[in-house]
Amino acid sequence: MRAWQLHDTNGPDSYRLEAVETPEPGPDEVRVQLRASALNHLDLWVSHGMPAPHRFPHTSGGDGAGVVSALGSNVDSVAVGAEVVLNPSISCGYCSACLAGESPFCRSYGILGEHFPGTLAEEVVLPARNVVPKPASLTWEQAAAYPLATGTAYRMLRRARLSAGDVLLIVGIGGGVASMGLQLGLAMGATVYVTSRDQSKIDQAVAWGAAGGFDSEGEFSKELKAAAGRSADVVLESVGPATFGQSMRSMQPGGRIAICGSTSGPKVEITVPALFFKQIEIIGSTMFNHAEFHTVTDLVGSGKVPVIVDSVTPFENLPDALARLAAGEQLGKVVIGR
Ligand SMILES: [Zn+2]
Repeated sequence: MRAWQLHDTNGPDSYRLEAVETPEPGPDEVRVQLRASALNHLDLWVSHGMPAPHRFPHTSGGDGAGVVSALGSNVDSVAVGAEVVLNPSISCGYCSACLAGESPFCRSYGILGEHFPGTLAEEVVLPARNVVPKPASLTWEQAAAYPLATGTAYRMLRRARLSAGDVLLIVGIGGGVASMGLQLGLAMGATVYVTSRDQSKIDQAVAWGAAGGFDSEGEFSKELKAAAGRSADVVLESVGPATFGQSMRSMQPGGRIAICGSTSGPKVEITVPALFFKQIEIIGSTMFNHAEFHTVTDLVGSGKVPVIVDSVTPFENLPDALARLAAGEQLGKVVIGR
């Protein structure tokens, strides 16, 4: 088979399309022939060594959907030929965290494409419990696009206790988590506002149902209060120092800010009196458990939450898609077709 491989961590130009041996599944694993994959910022970070792959050469890619092509000796939960979506959140299944349903806290937790060879290949091997039936209503491209971003956004909103009628602010609408956070927030009955440096992305978010949008580089906390009549109950943050001060000022007393990334840099300043006087909660969040993945699969499969595909790039043209992601041009998921 062919796979895009990293031999070093000199950035996204280091990916090489190479012929490699087709992997064989272990006893509790399946092999899936991919029909589509999707990119995440993780695929860029890994190519820069943040974090560095555990071994070289490394195949990145956490998102994918395809057809089961081989079964491990213990697997009877799925058949060869089944159309499946991959859950990239991989855990042991038997430690106390896994048994409590909180697989992201598993002692041997890993992400497909970071800790294990990923989906930027023609075939991939993963645990059988990490494949679910592909919702029939989704195209291959939509099925590959939703898992990581939608699961991440759903866990953020759940942990931040988003309720119907809440004001939700999504800072930096553009990437997969933000765009799927918008769709999930709307489906959960929130009034959603967004920020972007790009007016065309704000316009698109409003067309999808956002109540309004503001410039990420302006004083969007004041603009939100003027537009909504009050501040936000929940803020989704993934930008970091460039927006964090405004994001903190955008919250109601008792507000929750859920953070899953920091694309503008790793450190922020917090005005501590504002934090405690307003009794604000800061929630770090990243990958999701199996129950959350099943919930988002039901939500996208039933059509309640549309899957936002930015673009579909042929497998052979991966560098073009990585460049689009690196430049922040996308609105929704950058999909790699077959
Ligand atoms: Zn475990």
